[in-house]
Amino acid sequence: ASGYTLLRDPRFNKGLAFSENERDAHYLRGLLPPSVSCQELQEKRLMHNLRQYEVPLQRYIAMMDLQERNERLFYKLLIDNVEELLPVVYTPVVGEACQKYGSIFRRPQGLFISLKEKGKILEVLKNWPERSIQVIVVTDGERILGLGDLGCQGMGIPVGKLSLYTALGGVRPSACLPVTIDVGTNNEKLLNDEFYIGLRQKRATGQEYAELLHEFMCAVKQNYGEKILIQFEDFANHNAFELLAKYRTTHLVFNDDIQGTASVVLAGLIAALKLVGGTLADHSFLFLGAGEAGTGIAELIALEISKRTNIPVEETRKKIWLVDSKGLVVSSRKESLQHFKRPWAHEHEPVKELFDAVKAIKPTVLIGTSGVGKTFTKDVVEAMASFNEKPVIFALSNPTSQAECTAEEAYEWTKGRAIFASGSPFNPVEYNGKVFVPGQANNAYIFPGFGLGLIMSGTIRMHDDMLLAASEALAAQVTEENYAKGLIYPPLTNIREISARIAAKVAAKSYELGLASRLPRPKDLVKFAESCMYSPVYRNYL
Ligand code: NAP
Ligand code: MN
Repeated sequence: ASGYTLLRDPRFNKGLAFSENERDAHYLRGLLPPSVSCQELQEKRLMHNLRQYEVPLQRYIAMMDLQERNERLFYKLLIDNVEELLPVVYTPVVGEACQKYGSIFRRPQGLFISLKEKGKILEVLKNWPERSIQVIVVTDGERILGLGDLGCQGMGIPVGKLSLYTALGGVRPSACLPVTIDVGTNNEKLLNDEFYIGLRQKRATGQEYAELLHEFMCAVKQNYGEKILIQFEDFANHNAFELLAKYRTTHLVFNDDIQGTASVVLAGLIAALKLVGGTLADHSFLFLGAGEAGTGIAELIALEISKRTNIPVEETRKKIWLVDSKGLVVSSRKESLQHFKRPWAHEHEPVKELFDAVKAIKPTVLIGTSGVGKTFTKDVVEAMASFNEKPVIFALSNPTSQAECTAEEAYEWTKGRAIFASGSPFNPVEYNGKVFVPGQANNAYIFPGFGLGLIMSGTIRMHDDMLLAASEALAAQVTEENYAKGLIYPPLTNIREISARIAAKVAAKSYELGLASRLPRPKDLVKFAESCMYSPVYRNYL
Protein backbone atom coordinates (compact mmCIF):
# COMPACT_ATOMS: atom_id res chain seq x y z
CA ALA A 1 0.00 0.00 0.00
CA SER A 2 1.10 3.57 -0.56
CA GLY A 3 2.12 5.69 2.40
CA TYR A 4 -0.91 7.87 1.87
CA THR A 5 -3.29 4.90 2.22
CA LEU A 6 -1.44 3.81 5.35
CA LEU A 7 -2.02 7.19 6.99
CA ARG A 8 -5.70 7.07 6.15
CA ASP A 9 -6.42 3.59 7.43
CA PRO A 10 -7.22 3.82 11.16
CA ARG A 11 -6.11 0.23 11.70
CA PHE A 12 -2.58 0.96 10.51
CA ASN A 13 -2.05 4.67 10.98
CA LYS A 14 0.46 5.62 13.68
CA GLY A 15 0.74 9.32 12.83
CA LEU A 16 4.01 10.82 14.00
CA ALA A 17 4.99 7.49 15.54
CA PHE A 18 6.11 6.03 12.19
CA SER A 19 9.87 5.55 12.59
CA GLU A 20 12.48 6.85 10.15
CA ASN A 21 12.89 3.36 8.69
CA GLU A 22 9.14 2.86 8.32
CA ARG A 23 8.87 6.22 6.61
CA ASP A 24 11.48 5.08 4.08
CA ALA A 25 10.01 1.63 3.56
CA HIS A 26 6.40 2.72 3.11
CA TYR A 27 6.65 5.86 0.97
CA LEU A 28 5.83 8.15 3.88
CA ARG A 29 8.65 10.64 3.33
CA GLY A 30 7.26 14.14 3.11
CA LEU A 31 3.78 13.05 4.09
CA LEU A 32 4.66 13.62 7.73
CA PRO A 33 6.52 16.44 9.46
CA PRO A 34 10.09 15.53 10.48
CA SER A 35 9.45 14.87 14.16
CA VAL A 36 9.06 11.26 15.33
CA SER A 37 7.17 10.70 18.55
CA CYS A 38 6.40 7.60 20.57
CA GLN A 39 2.91 6.35 21.48
CA GLU A 40 3.33 7.56 25.07
CA LEU A 41 4.02 11.10 23.92
CA GLN A 42 0.99 10.98 21.62
CA GLU A 43 -1.11 9.85 24.58
CA LYS A 44 0.18 12.68 26.71
CA ARG A 45 -0.65 15.20 24.01
CA LEU A 46 -4.15 13.83 23.47
CA MET A 47 -5.00 13.76 27.18
CA HIS A 48 -3.75 17.31 27.42
CA ASN A 49 -6.04 18.35 24.56
CA LEU A 50 -9.07 16.42 25.85
CA ARG A 51 -8.79 18.07 29.24
CA GLN A 52 -8.95 21.49 27.59
CA TYR A 53 -12.47 20.89 26.36
CA GLU A 54 -15.05 22.21 28.77
CA VAL A 55 -18.04 20.76 26.96
CA PRO A 56 -18.18 16.98 27.53
CA LEU A 57 -19.64 16.39 24.06
CA GLN A 58 -16.47 17.87 22.54
CA ARG A 59 -14.47 15.23 24.36
CA TYR A 60 -16.74 12.57 22.91
CA ILE A 61 -16.29 13.93 19.38
CA ALA A 62 -12.54 14.12 19.85
CA MET A 63 -12.48 10.48 20.97
CA MET A 64 -14.60 9.36 18.01
CA ASP A 65 -12.33 11.25 15.64
CA LEU A 66 -9.34 9.53 17.18
CA GLN A 67 -10.99 6.12 16.77
CA GLU A 68 -11.54 6.93 13.09
CA ARG A 69 -7.97 8.15 12.64
CA ASN A 70 -5.74 5.92 14.75
CA GLU A 71 -7.42 2.89 16.28
CA ARG A 72 -4.53 1.64 18.38
CA LEU A 73 -3.93 5.02 19.93
CA PHE A 74 -7.66 5.29 20.73
CA TYR A 75 -7.60 1.99 22.60
CA LYS A 76 -4.26 2.66 24.28
CA LEU A 77 -5.63 5.95 25.58
CA LEU A 78 -8.86 4.34 26.78
CA ILE A 79 -7.06 1.48 28.55
CA ASP A 80 -4.50 3.72 30.24
CA ASN A 81 -7.12 6.26 31.39
CA VAL A 82 -10.16 4.06 32.02
CA GLU A 83 -11.62 5.97 34.93
CA GLU A 84 -11.36 9.32 33.19
CA LEU A 85 -12.46 8.24 29.71
CA LEU A 86 -15.16 5.66 30.43
CA PRO A 87 -17.69 8.43 31.19
CA VAL A 88 -16.77 10.05 27.85
CA VAL A 89 -17.11 7.10 25.48
CA TYR A 90 -19.86 5.59 27.55
CA THR A 91 -22.48 6.83 30.04
CA PRO A 92 -23.19 9.66 30.74
CA VAL A 93 -21.66 11.55 27.77
CA VAL A 94 -22.66 8.96 25.16
CA GLY A 95 -26.26 9.73 26.09
CA GLU A 96 -25.93 13.33 25.04
CA ALA A 97 -24.09 12.19 21.94
CA CYS A 98 -27.07 9.98 20.98
CA GLN A 99 -29.49 12.83 21.53
CA LYS A 100 -27.45 14.95 19.11
CA TYR A 101 -26.21 12.12 16.90
CA GLY A 102 -27.75 13.62 13.79
CA SER A 103 -25.90 16.89 14.16
CA ILE A 104 -22.54 15.37 15.05
CA PHE A 105 -22.79 12.53 12.51
CA ARG A 106 -19.52 12.01 10.68
CA ARG A 107 -18.82 8.56 9.39
CA PRO A 108 -20.91 5.47 10.15
CA GLN A 109 -19.28 3.30 12.78
CA GLY A 110 -21.72 0.41 12.58
CA LEU A 111 -24.48 -1.15 10.48
CA PHE A 112 -27.86 0.51 10.13
CA ILE A 113 -30.61 -1.98 9.39
CA SER A 114 -33.99 -0.35 8.81
CA LEU A 115 -37.38 -1.50 7.57
CA LYS A 116 -36.10 -0.52 4.10
CA GLU A 117 -33.66 -3.44 4.31
CA LYS A 118 -36.37 -6.00 4.98
CA GLY A 119 -35.73 -9.10 2.89
CA LYS A 120 -32.11 -8.06 2.27
CA ILE A 121 -30.48 -8.24 5.68
CA LEU A 122 -28.04 -10.98 4.71
CA GLU A 123 -26.79 -8.80 1.84
CA VAL A 124 -26.49 -5.85 4.19
CA LEU A 125 -24.31 -7.90 6.55
CA LYS A 126 -22.06 -8.72 3.63
CA ASN A 127 -21.52 -5.02 2.98
CA TRP A 128 -19.62 -4.79 6.26
CA PRO A 129 -15.90 -5.02 5.46
CA GLU A 130 -14.92 -7.45 8.21
CA ARG A 131 -15.70 -11.14 7.81
CA SER A 132 -14.84 -12.78 11.11
CA ILE A 133 -17.19 -11.09 13.57
CA GLN A 134 -17.31 -12.54 17.10
CA VAL A 135 -19.64 -10.12 18.89
CA ILE A 136 -22.55 -7.93 17.83
CA VAL A 137 -24.13 -5.33 20.06
CA VAL A 138 -27.56 -4.46 18.72
CA THR A 139 -30.15 -1.89 19.78
CA ASP A 140 -33.47 -0.72 18.40
CA GLY A 141 -33.01 2.60 20.18
CA GLU A 142 -36.27 2.46 22.10
CA ARG A 143 -34.85 2.89 25.63
CA ILE A 144 -31.44 4.52 25.41
CA LEU A 145 -29.93 4.72 28.93
CA GLY A 146 -32.51 6.63 30.95
CA LEU A 147 -33.27 8.90 27.98
CA GLY A 148 -36.08 7.02 26.31
CA ASP A 149 -36.69 6.53 22.59
CA LEU A 150 -33.85 7.94 20.49
CA GLY A 151 -34.61 5.84 17.42
CA CYS A 152 -31.78 5.40 14.97
CA GLN A 153 -29.58 7.74 16.99
CA GLY A 154 -29.17 5.01 19.56
CA MET A 155 -26.20 3.88 17.42
CA GLY A 156 -23.87 5.59 19.89
CA ILE A 157 -24.66 2.82 22.38
CA PRO A 158 -23.52 -0.26 20.42
CA VAL A 159 -20.48 1.69 19.24
CA GLY A 160 -19.58 2.68 22.80
CA LYS A 161 -20.26 -0.76 24.30
CA LEU A 162 -18.09 -2.44 21.71
CA SER A 163 -15.20 -0.10 22.31
CA LEU A 164 -15.40 -1.28 25.92
CA TYR A 165 -15.42 -4.90 24.74
CA THR A 166 -12.06 -4.14 23.19
CA ALA A 167 -10.55 -1.80 25.75
CA LEU A 168 -11.70 -3.62 28.90
CA GLY A 169 -12.20 -7.16 27.62
CA GLY A 170 -9.54 -7.37 24.93
CA VAL A 171 -11.83 -8.50 22.09
CA ARG A 172 -10.22 -7.52 18.75
CA PRO A 173 -11.84 -4.37 17.30
CA SER A 174 -12.22 -6.02 13.89
CA ALA A 175 -14.31 -8.79 15.52
CA CYS A 176 -16.87 -6.31 16.87
CA LEU A 177 -19.95 -5.19 14.95
CA PRO A 178 -22.30 -2.42 16.20
CA VAL A 179 -25.83 -2.66 14.80
CA THR A 180 -28.85 -0.41 15.03
CA ILE A 181 -32.23 -1.71 13.93
CA ASP A 182 -34.41 1.16 12.80
CA VAL A 183 -38.13 0.47 12.93
CA GLY A 184 -39.01 4.15 13.38
CA THR A 185 -39.30 6.23 16.51
CA ASN A 186 -42.11 7.59 18.63
CA ASN A 187 -39.96 10.55 19.65
CA GLU A 188 -41.80 13.54 18.17
CA LYS A 189 -38.86 15.83 18.73
CA LEU A 190 -36.63 13.66 16.59
CA LEU A 191 -39.31 13.12 13.94
CA ASN A 192 -39.45 16.89 13.56
CA ASP A 193 -35.67 17.41 13.73
CA GLU A 194 -34.29 18.22 10.29
CA PHE A 195 -30.99 16.58 11.19
CA TYR A 196 -32.55 13.29 12.34
CA ILE A 197 -30.79 10.38 10.61
CA GLY A 198 -33.42 7.66 10.97
CA LEU A 199 -36.69 6.60 9.36
CA ARG A 200 -39.31 9.29 9.77
CA GLN A 201 -42.17 7.14 10.93
CA LYS A 202 -43.77 5.80 14.10
CA ARG A 203 -42.30 2.57 15.44
CA ALA A 204 -43.36 -0.62 13.74
CA THR A 205 -44.69 -3.08 16.31
CA GLY A 206 -46.22 -6.54 16.50
CA GLN A 207 -45.66 -8.84 13.57
CA GLU A 208 -43.81 -6.31 11.43
CA TYR A 209 -41.30 -5.74 14.24
CA ALA A 210 -40.96 -9.43 15.05
CA GLU A 211 -40.35 -10.33 11.40
CA LEU A 212 -37.55 -7.82 10.93
CA LEU A 213 -35.85 -8.98 14.11
CA HIS A 214 -36.25 -12.59 13.15
CA GLU A 215 -34.75 -11.99 9.74
CA PHE A 216 -31.83 -10.25 11.43
CA MET A 217 -31.26 -13.06 13.92
CA CYS A 218 -31.33 -15.71 11.19
CA ALA A 219 -29.08 -13.73 8.85
CA VAL A 220 -26.53 -13.21 11.61
CA LYS A 221 -26.31 -16.90 12.38
CA GLN A 222 -26.16 -17.79 8.71
CA ASN A 223 -23.39 -15.30 8.03
CA TYR A 224 -21.24 -15.69 11.16
CA GLY A 225 -22.09 -19.13 12.49
CA GLU A 226 -23.27 -20.66 15.71
CA LYS A 227 -20.71 -18.99 18.01
CA ILE A 228 -21.54 -15.36 17.24
CA LEU A 229 -22.38 -13.51 20.46
CA ILE A 230 -25.37 -11.18 20.13
CA GLN A 231 -25.78 -8.65 22.91
CA PHE A 232 -29.17 -6.94 23.06
CA GLU A 233 -28.82 -3.44 24.39
CA ASP A 234 -31.29 -0.73 25.39
CA PHE A 235 -34.45 -2.34 24.09
CA ALA A 236 -37.65 -1.31 25.86
CA ASN A 237 -38.56 -3.90 28.46
CA HIS A 238 -41.60 -5.29 26.63
CA ASN A 239 -39.31 -6.41 23.79
CA ALA A 240 -36.20 -7.13 25.84
CA PHE A 241 -37.65 -9.99 27.88
CA GLU A 242 -39.38 -11.50 24.84
CA LEU A 243 -36.33 -11.41 22.58
CA LEU A 244 -34.20 -13.06 25.23
CA ALA A 245 -36.75 -15.79 25.85
CA LYS A 246 -37.31 -16.34 22.13
CA TYR A 247 -33.67 -16.66 21.07
CA ARG A 248 -31.88 -18.11 24.09
CA THR A 249 -32.25 -21.67 22.85
CA THR A 250 -31.22 -21.03 19.24
CA HIS A 251 -28.56 -18.31 19.52
CA LEU A 252 -25.79 -17.15 21.86
CA VAL A 253 -27.64 -14.12 23.25
CA PHE A 254 -27.03 -11.86 26.21
CA ASN A 255 -28.95 -8.82 27.42
CA ASP A 256 -26.73 -6.47 29.36
CA ASP A 257 -29.57 -4.42 30.82
CA ILE A 258 -31.10 -7.54 32.36
CA GLN A 259 -28.30 -10.08 32.79
CA GLY A 260 -25.19 -7.92 32.89
CA THR A 261 -26.76 -5.63 35.47
CA ALA A 262 -27.87 -8.64 37.50
CA SER A 263 -24.38 -10.09 37.51
CA VAL A 264 -22.61 -6.89 38.52
CA VAL A 265 -25.09 -6.15 41.31
CA LEU A 266 -24.95 -9.71 42.61
CA ALA A 267 -21.16 -9.38 42.72
CA GLY A 268 -21.53 -6.26 44.88
CA LEU A 269 -23.92 -8.09 47.21
CA ILE A 270 -21.62 -11.08 47.56
CA ALA A 271 -18.77 -8.70 48.37
CA ALA A 272 -20.96 -6.75 50.81
CA LEU A 273 -21.48 -9.93 52.84
CA LYS A 274 -17.88 -9.56 54.02
CA LEU A 275 -18.90 -6.29 55.67
CA VAL A 276 -22.40 -7.14 56.90
CA GLY A 277 -21.91 -10.82 57.67
CA GLY A 278 -24.10 -13.82 57.01
CA THR A 279 -24.88 -15.50 53.71
CA LEU A 280 -27.20 -14.19 50.99
CA ALA A 281 -29.89 -16.54 52.29
CA ASP A 282 -29.89 -14.67 55.62
CA HIS A 283 -30.89 -11.45 53.90
CA SER A 284 -34.13 -10.00 52.60
CA PHE A 285 -34.37 -7.70 49.64
CA LEU A 286 -36.62 -4.87 48.57
CA PHE A 287 -36.45 -3.26 45.13
CA LEU A 288 -37.90 0.02 43.99
CA GLY A 289 -38.41 -0.60 40.26
CA ALA A 290 -39.55 -3.89 38.74
CA GLY A 291 -38.28 -3.59 35.16
CA GLU A 292 -35.32 -5.06 33.30
CA ALA A 293 -32.77 -4.21 35.96
CA GLY A 294 -34.91 -4.93 39.05
CA THR A 295 -36.38 -8.27 38.01
CA GLY A 296 -33.09 -9.33 36.38
CA ILE A 297 -31.16 -8.74 39.61
CA ALA A 298 -33.90 -10.31 41.72
CA GLU A 299 -33.89 -13.49 39.65
CA LEU A 300 -30.11 -13.89 39.81
CA ILE A 301 -30.09 -13.40 43.59
CA ALA A 302 -32.81 -16.05 43.94
CA LEU A 303 -30.82 -18.38 41.70
CA GLU A 304 -27.57 -17.89 43.64
CA ILE A 305 -29.31 -18.58 46.96
CA SER A 306 -30.97 -21.63 45.45
CA LYS A 307 -27.61 -23.01 44.22
CA ARG A 308 -26.01 -22.51 47.59
CA THR A 309 -28.82 -23.89 49.75
CA ASN A 310 -30.45 -26.45 47.47
CA ILE A 311 -33.76 -24.71 48.16
CA PRO A 312 -35.86 -24.47 44.97
CA VAL A 313 -35.85 -21.05 43.34
CA GLU A 314 -39.65 -20.78 43.76
CA GLU A 315 -38.92 -20.67 47.50
CA THR A 316 -35.84 -18.45 47.49
CA ARG A 317 -37.76 -15.81 45.54
CA LYS A 318 -39.97 -15.29 48.57
CA LYS A 319 -37.38 -13.20 50.39
CA ILE A 320 -37.25 -10.76 47.52
CA TRP A 321 -39.90 -8.05 47.13
CA LEU A 322 -40.43 -5.48 44.41
CA VAL A 323 -42.21 -2.16 44.26
CA ASP A 324 -43.27 -0.74 40.88
CA SER A 325 -45.10 2.45 39.94
CA LYS A 326 -48.29 1.03 41.46
CA GLY A 327 -46.79 -0.07 44.77
CA LEU A 328 -45.67 -3.39 46.21
CA VAL A 329 -45.98 -6.26 43.75
CA VAL A 330 -48.40 -8.62 45.55
CA SER A 331 -50.50 -11.63 44.64
CA SER A 332 -53.80 -9.75 44.46
CA ARG A 333 -52.35 -7.82 41.49
CA LYS A 334 -51.22 -10.96 39.65
CA GLU A 335 -53.79 -10.87 36.84
CA SER A 336 -52.86 -7.39 35.73
CA LEU A 337 -49.08 -7.86 36.02
CA GLN A 338 -46.66 -8.20 33.11
CA HIS A 339 -45.17 -11.69 32.83
CA PHE A 340 -41.77 -10.83 34.19
CA LYS A 341 -43.27 -9.51 37.44
CA ARG A 342 -45.44 -12.50 38.22
CA PRO A 343 -42.81 -14.61 40.01
CA TRP A 344 -42.52 -11.76 42.53
CA ALA A 345 -46.22 -11.40 43.37
CA HIS A 346 -46.08 -12.81 46.91
CA GLU A 347 -48.90 -13.02 49.44
CA HIS A 348 -49.25 -9.63 51.16
CA GLU A 349 -51.79 -6.91 51.57
CA PRO A 350 -51.44 -4.06 49.06
CA VAL A 351 -48.89 -1.35 49.97
CA LYS A 352 -48.71 1.82 47.95
CA GLU A 353 -45.70 3.79 49.19
CA LEU A 354 -42.06 2.72 49.37
CA PHE A 355 -41.75 3.96 52.95
CA ASP A 356 -44.64 1.75 54.06
CA ALA A 357 -43.22 -1.19 52.13
CA VAL A 358 -39.87 -0.73 53.89
CA LYS A 359 -41.59 -0.76 57.27
CA ALA A 360 -43.71 -3.79 56.36
CA ILE A 361 -40.95 -5.94 54.79
CA LYS A 362 -38.03 -4.75 56.95
CA PRO A 363 -35.44 -5.65 54.28
CA THR A 364 -31.72 -5.82 55.00
CA VAL A 365 -30.98 -4.77 51.42
CA LEU A 366 -32.68 -1.91 49.55
CA ILE A 367 -32.07 -1.55 45.81
CA GLY A 368 -33.26 1.30 43.58
CA THR A 369 -33.90 0.50 39.89
CA SER A 370 -36.85 2.70 39.00
CA GLY A 371 -35.06 5.41 37.05
CA VAL A 372 -36.65 7.99 39.35
CA GLY A 373 -34.38 10.18 41.45
CA LYS A 374 -34.56 11.15 45.13
CA THR A 375 -36.92 8.32 46.07
CA PHE A 376 -34.76 7.02 48.95
CA THR A 377 -35.81 9.86 51.22
CA LYS A 378 -34.45 10.55 54.69
CA ASP A 379 -37.44 8.65 56.16
CA VAL A 380 -36.77 5.59 54.03
CA VAL A 381 -33.03 5.50 54.73
CA GLU A 382 -33.51 6.14 58.46
CA ALA A 383 -36.03 3.33 58.61
CA MET A 384 -33.46 1.01 56.99
CA ALA A 385 -30.92 2.12 59.61
CA SER A 386 -33.39 1.59 62.45
CA PHE A 387 -33.66 -2.17 62.00
CA ASN A 388 -30.28 -2.93 60.37
CA GLU A 389 -26.90 -2.42 61.94
CA LYS A 390 -25.39 -2.14 58.47
CA PRO A 391 -28.10 -1.44 55.92
CA VAL A 392 -27.12 -2.29 52.35
CA ILE A 393 -28.34 0.46 50.02
CA PHE A 394 -27.86 0.45 46.26
CA ALA A 395 -29.06 3.54 44.37
CA LEU A 396 -28.69 2.27 40.83
CA SER A 397 -30.75 4.65 38.73
CA ASN A 398 -28.83 6.66 36.15
CA PRO A 399 -27.76 9.30 35.37
CA THR A 400 -26.57 10.93 38.59
CA SER A 401 -29.61 13.22 38.75
CA GLN A 402 -31.85 10.12 38.90
CA ALA A 403 -29.97 8.40 41.74
CA GLU A 404 -32.37 7.33 44.51
CA CYS A 405 -30.11 9.10 46.99
CA THR A 406 -26.57 10.45 46.96
CA ALA A 407 -23.62 8.75 48.64
CA GLU A 408 -23.43 11.59 51.11
CA GLU A 409 -27.10 11.18 52.07
CA ALA A 410 -26.72 7.43 52.50
CA TYR A 411 -23.76 7.79 54.87
CA GLU A 412 -25.18 10.75 56.75
CA TRP A 413 -28.69 9.40 57.28
CA THR A 414 -27.31 6.08 58.54
CA LYS A 415 -24.57 7.73 60.65
CA GLY A 416 -21.88 6.08 58.55
CA ARG A 417 -23.34 2.59 58.82
CA ALA A 418 -24.60 2.11 55.24
CA ILE A 419 -22.90 -0.15 52.71
CA PHE A 420 -23.57 1.93 49.65
CA ALA A 421 -23.17 1.50 45.91
CA SER A 422 -24.62 3.43 43.00
CA GLY A 423 -25.12 3.25 39.26
CA SER A 424 -23.49 6.60 38.52
CA PRO A 425 -20.17 7.52 40.13
CA PHE A 426 -20.06 9.49 43.39
CA ASN A 427 -16.97 11.00 44.98
CA PRO A 428 -15.68 9.67 48.32
CA VAL A 429 -17.50 11.10 51.33
CA GLU A 430 -15.99 12.15 54.65
CA TYR A 431 -18.27 11.48 57.59
CA ASN A 432 -17.20 11.84 61.24
CA GLY A 433 -13.54 11.89 60.24
CA LYS A 434 -13.77 8.68 58.22
CA VAL A 435 -13.58 8.53 54.42
CA PHE A 436 -16.13 6.26 52.72
CA VAL A 437 -15.63 5.27 49.09
CA PRO A 438 -18.93 4.42 47.39
CA GLY A 439 -18.80 1.52 44.95
CA GLN A 440 -20.06 1.93 41.41
CA ALA A 441 -22.10 -1.02 40.14
CA ASN A 442 -20.88 -0.38 36.62
CA ASN A 443 -21.90 -2.96 34.02
CA ALA A 444 -18.46 -2.42 32.48
CA TYR A 445 -17.06 -4.68 35.21
CA ILE A 446 -18.85 -7.70 33.83
CA PHE A 447 -19.83 -7.70 30.15
CA PRO A 448 -16.37 -7.31 28.57
CA GLY A 449 -14.85 -10.19 30.55
CA PHE A 450 -18.03 -12.19 30.27
CA GLY A 451 -18.02 -11.81 26.48
CA LEU A 452 -14.33 -12.67 26.26
CA GLY A 453 -14.99 -15.85 28.26
CA LEU A 454 -17.75 -16.91 25.86
CA ILE A 455 -15.74 -16.08 22.77
CA MET A 456 -12.44 -17.66 23.80
CA SER A 457 -14.15 -20.94 24.70
CA GLY A 458 -16.29 -21.00 21.56
CA THR A 459 -19.45 -21.13 23.67
CA ILE A 460 -22.61 -21.75 21.68
CA ARG A 461 -25.33 -21.03 24.27
CA MET A 462 -25.64 -18.90 27.38
CA HIS A 463 -26.47 -20.38 30.77
CA ASP A 464 -27.38 -18.48 33.94
CA ASP A 465 -24.68 -20.36 35.87
CA MET A 466 -22.15 -18.43 33.78
CA LEU A 467 -23.57 -15.18 35.18
CA LEU A 468 -23.19 -16.53 38.71
CA ALA A 469 -19.60 -17.52 37.91
CA ALA A 470 -18.89 -13.99 36.67
CA SER A 471 -20.37 -12.43 39.83
CA GLU A 472 -18.29 -14.64 42.07
CA ALA A 473 -15.16 -13.92 40.07
CA LEU A 474 -15.70 -10.17 40.34
CA ALA A 475 -16.49 -10.29 44.07
CA ALA A 476 -13.27 -12.27 44.62
CA GLN A 477 -11.29 -9.34 43.21
CA VAL A 478 -12.23 -6.99 46.06
CA THR A 479 -9.26 -6.66 48.42
CA GLU A 480 -9.05 -6.10 52.19
CA GLU A 481 -7.78 -2.63 51.38
CA ASN A 482 -10.95 -1.93 49.37
CA TYR A 483 -13.17 -3.27 52.14
CA ALA A 484 -11.48 -1.04 54.70
CA LYS A 485 -12.89 1.95 52.81
CA GLY A 486 -16.34 0.45 52.52
CA LEU A 487 -15.71 -0.38 48.86
CA ILE A 488 -17.43 -3.46 47.47
CA TYR A 489 -16.12 -3.20 43.91
CA PRO A 490 -12.43 -3.20 42.94
CA PRO A 491 -11.08 -0.05 41.26
CA LEU A 492 -11.58 0.03 37.48
CA THR A 493 -7.90 0.73 36.95
CA ASN A 494 -7.14 -3.02 36.98
CA ILE A 495 -10.07 -3.86 34.76
CA ARG A 496 -8.14 -5.89 32.16
CA GLU A 497 -6.82 -8.19 34.87
CA ILE A 498 -10.29 -8.45 36.36
CA SER A 499 -11.79 -9.18 32.93
CA ALA A 500 -9.29 -12.00 32.35
CA ARG A 501 -10.32 -13.61 35.65
CA ILE A 502 -14.01 -13.24 34.88
CA ALA A 503 -13.44 -14.66 31.38
CA ALA A 504 -11.61 -17.64 32.86
CA LYS A 505 -14.44 -18.46 35.29
CA VAL A 506 -17.11 -18.04 32.64
CA ALA A 507 -15.19 -20.26 30.22
CA ALA A 508 -14.61 -22.85 32.95
CA LYS A 509 -18.34 -22.97 33.60
CA SER A 510 -19.05 -23.28 29.89
CA TYR A 511 -16.67 -26.26 29.59
CA GLU A 512 -18.23 -27.81 32.66
CA LEU A 513 -21.70 -27.49 31.12
CA GLY A 514 -20.55 -28.89 27.79
CA LEU A 515 -21.38 -25.66 25.97
CA ALA A 516 -17.84 -24.77 24.90
CA SER A 517 -16.76 -25.83 21.42
CA ARG A 518 -13.11 -24.84 21.55
CA LEU A 519 -11.34 -28.12 22.29
CA PRO A 520 -9.23 -29.20 23.98
CA ARG A 521 -9.89 -27.00 26.99
CA PRO A 522 -6.83 -24.85 27.75
CA LYS A 523 -5.31 -25.86 31.08
CA ASP A 524 -4.74 -22.41 32.54
CA LEU A 525 -7.78 -20.37 31.53
CA VAL A 526 -6.56 -17.08 33.06
CA LYS A 527 -3.32 -17.31 31.07
CA PHE A 528 -5.31 -18.27 27.99
CA ALA A 529 -7.65 -15.30 28.45
CA GLU A 530 -4.67 -12.96 28.75
CA SER A 531 -3.08 -14.43 25.64
CA CYS A 532 -6.31 -13.82 23.69
CA MET A 533 -6.51 -10.16 24.60
CA TYR A 534 -5.94 -7.50 21.96
CA SER A 535 -2.98 -5.23 22.63
CA PRO A 536 -3.15 -1.65 21.34
CA VAL A 537 0.63 -1.22 21.33
CA TYR A 538 1.87 -0.16 17.88
CA ARG A 539 3.27 -2.80 15.62
CA ASN A 540 6.46 -2.48 13.72
CA TYR A 541 5.83 -2.36 9.97
CA LEU A 542 9.27 -3.38 8.79
P1 NAP B 1 -37.43 -0.30 33.13
O1 NAP B 1 -37.37 -1.68 32.58
O2 NAP B 1 -38.18 0.73 32.39
O3 NAP B 1 -38.06 -0.42 34.62
C1 NAP B 1 -38.39 0.68 35.44
C2 NAP B 1 -39.21 0.18 36.61
O4 NAP B 1 -39.35 1.24 37.55
C3 NAP B 1 -40.62 -0.26 36.25
O5 NAP B 1 -40.96 -1.40 36.97
C4 NAP B 1 -41.48 0.92 36.66
O6 NAP B 1 -42.78 0.60 37.10
C5 NAP B 1 -40.73 1.40 37.89
N1 NAP B 1 -41.04 2.80 38.22
C6 NAP B 1 -41.05 3.87 37.40
N2 NAP B 1 -41.39 4.98 38.08
C7 NAP B 1 -41.60 4.59 39.35
C8 NAP B 1 -41.98 5.27 40.54
N3 NAP B 1 -42.22 6.58 40.53
N4 NAP B 1 -42.11 4.55 41.67
C9 NAP B 1 -41.88 3.24 41.67
N5 NAP B 1 -41.49 2.55 40.60
C10 NAP B 1 -41.37 3.21 39.45
O7 NAP B 1 -35.99 0.29 33.34
P2 NAP B 1 -34.63 -0.51 33.71
O8 NAP B 1 -33.93 -0.92 32.45
O9 NAP B 1 -34.92 -1.55 34.70
O10 NAP B 1 -33.75 0.66 34.34
C11 NAP B 1 -34.15 1.30 35.54
C12 NAP B 1 -33.03 2.17 36.08
O11 NAP B 1 -31.93 1.37 36.47
C13 NAP B 1 -32.49 3.21 35.09
O12 NAP B 1 -32.33 4.44 35.72
C14 NAP B 1 -31.13 2.66 34.73
O13 NAP B 1 -30.21 3.69 34.45
C15 NAP B 1 -30.74 1.93 35.99
N6 NAP B 1 -29.75 0.87 35.71
C16 NAP B 1 -28.57 0.87 36.40
C17 NAP B 1 -27.62 -0.09 36.15
C18 NAP B 1 -26.35 -0.10 36.92
O14 NAP B 1 -26.26 0.56 37.90
N7 NAP B 1 -25.35 -0.85 36.53
C19 NAP B 1 -27.84 -1.06 35.17
C20 NAP B 1 -29.07 -1.05 34.49
C21 NAP B 1 -30.01 -0.06 34.77
P3 NAP B 1 -43.92 0.03 36.11
O15 NAP B 1 -43.46 -1.35 35.78
O16 NAP B 1 -45.14 0.04 36.99
O17 NAP B 1 -43.99 0.94 34.94
MN1 MN C 1 -27.94 -0.56 28.47
